[in-house]
Amino acid sequence: MANGGPVEHGYPHLETVRAAITALYRRLTYDTVRTFSTSVAPADVAFCDTDDLHLGAQRVARELVRHYRLPDARMIVGFREMTHAANVELAAGPEYFIELNDRFRTHRRDIGAALAHEVTHVYLHRLDLSFAGTRENEILTDTAATYLGAGWLLLDAYREDAVSSQKLGYLTPEEFGYVLAKRALFFHEDPSVWFTSPQAYTAYAEGMARARRDEREPPLTAVGWAGRRRYARDRRRARDTPGTAPEAEVPYAFTPGARGPLRVSFPCPACRQRIRVPVRGRVRVRCALCRTVWECDT
Ligand SMILES: [Zn+2]
Ligand SMILES: [Zn+2]
Repeated sequence: MANGGPVEHGYPHLETVRAAITALYRRLTYDTVRTFSTSVAPADVAFCDTDDLHLGAQRVARELVRHYRLPDARMIVGFREMTHAANVELAAGPEYFIELNDRFRTHRRDIGAALAHEVTHVYLHRLDLSFAGTRENEILTDTAATYLGAGWLLLDAYREDAVSSQKLGYLTPEEFGYVLAKRALFFHEDPSVWFTSPQAYTAYAEGMARARRDEREPPLTAVGWAGRRRYARDRRRARDTPGTAPEAEVPYAFTPGARGPLRVSFPCPACRQRIRVPVRGRVRVRCALCRTVWECDT
């Protein structure tokens, strides 16, 4: 896990983040994702500076292993001087060696966040789920951690004041907020009450606004007036001149119906899997991957 540097903001990794959510659903299926309806509880990973360093780190690691239901996995946590924040050796197991940066000896409250990322690496390794490229894989790891209920700790480790800033993980604070919001909307959970960092709370609110925007894109009925007009225009063009792409960059696409009816495809707002339906007015559509039902006006 990376360490230091200026804090990047916005959504530079959004496409990879979204692809990671879809990949997670494809690999785990709806039924397994559902078993992660409860997040890691703040009390279970709390770590104060009077706790024994090694015993405390082992306890928090065990809690994360329990969260991911890795019964036979044993995390051996050590500390050393290193440039990265943390690292895990992905071997065959059942023992996994996690190294944490020495600075966590005096920043114990963030040990849970660092371990959340590293234990998620082990979980994905055992699932044999990875993205090509180190950076993409780290984004997958942070996204999986956050979507499955452990990564809110990473966002909460983001703190800024007049003289210093700290952030863990590869997503920007807003991207963490976005994934956490996706999780909150899917599981009807409110993680905002757990934040100890005001900056984390702000990033979550921003990410939630972005996540809600996904639910207001055409052909969803929740779309605003301008989006609906644009959609109607694009649909007319698709009918009149099959094969022409919409003018602007839009999330939906029409499949020219040579003989059959015109069809529209769009990303599921929850899991980003593409949904395809015939164009025929108001329909309720259930996403085959995450099973969310959407009201659409095609
Ligand atoms: Zn990592
Ligand atoms: Zn879906």
